[in-house]
Amino acid sequence: MSPRELSGGEEGQPKRSGPAVAIRARRLSKVYGEGETAVHALAGVDLEVRRGEMVAIMGRSGSGKSTLLHLIGALDTPTSGTVSIARRRFDNLSDVELTLLRREKIGFVFQFFNLLPALTAKENVVLPALIAGNRDRLVHDRAGELLARVGLAERADHLPAELSGGEQQRVSIARALLMDPELVLADEPTGNLDTTSSAEVLRLLRELNRKEGHTIVLVTHDPGAASMAGRVVFLRDGRIAGELSGGSTKRVSERFAAL
Ligand code: ADP
Ligand code: MG
Repeated sequence: MSPRELSGGEEGQPKRSGPAVAIRARRLSKVYGEGETAVHALAGVDLEVRRGEMVAIMGRSGSGKSTLLHLIGALDTPTSGTVSIARRRFDNLSDVELTLLRREKIGFVFQFFNLLPALTAKENVVLPALIAGNRDRLVHDRAGELLARVGLAERADHLPAELSGGEQQRVSIARALLMDPELVLADEPTGNLDTTSSAEVLRLLRELNRKEGHTIVLVTHDPGAASMAGRVVFLRDGRIAGELSGGSTKRVSERFAAL
């Protein structure tokens, strides 16, 4: 259990060595269903994310954002096309290999947190290691450090129901970081939060990227959230519809409105 990302890295520098490309998706397509009722959720998406980047994916509801994130995160398989993480293709892996890849390389953050209600914050953070069969005492230390990192040292023994939405999402971010993943994928992480909690969660994600070098892909339809990223990629009807550099909520909003 390396506490690498707890100690901070150089500003804007990826924390790891290895391939510069974190994600490469080529001609990615996903069709749900068949025949007359088939839905072409993705229709030939090319996307490259460099190690240490924070990229936002924006598009209207139904444009294919979640589908794209699920394919990148090996939660689902494409109808055609290829995906690789750190140069490792995984469209041809078995289910067991995919599970291992997800567990070791990818941290997920979801809109509705997906915490187990009967477990405390700390137990939820430790869970990925338990599932992986790691019962090392160090895992608990690391979970405690990560909870402190997301500002919840005092809440470690609380149940999710005793935490605010923003706190629950920060627990889920700590959980996503437990296995020291290659990349963090967040699907509408602020979609269920009030303005203040949203701002906290976004600030945390941005810090994890800028200060600690985590590669992050964030799906959102909030221009304010998207503009926190270094790059904003727009999706429309399952296709890439251009991109912008981040930074300006106004420019991102205008582009989004014109989609
Ligand atoms: P977004 O996240 O941008 O709202 P999604 O990727 O969830 O979009 O969905 C893209 C399209 O695929 C939508 O038309 C949606 O209804 C459809 N879709 C998504 N998941 C499924 C599924 N499991 N079965 C059938 N259609 C789906
Ligand atoms: Mg979605």
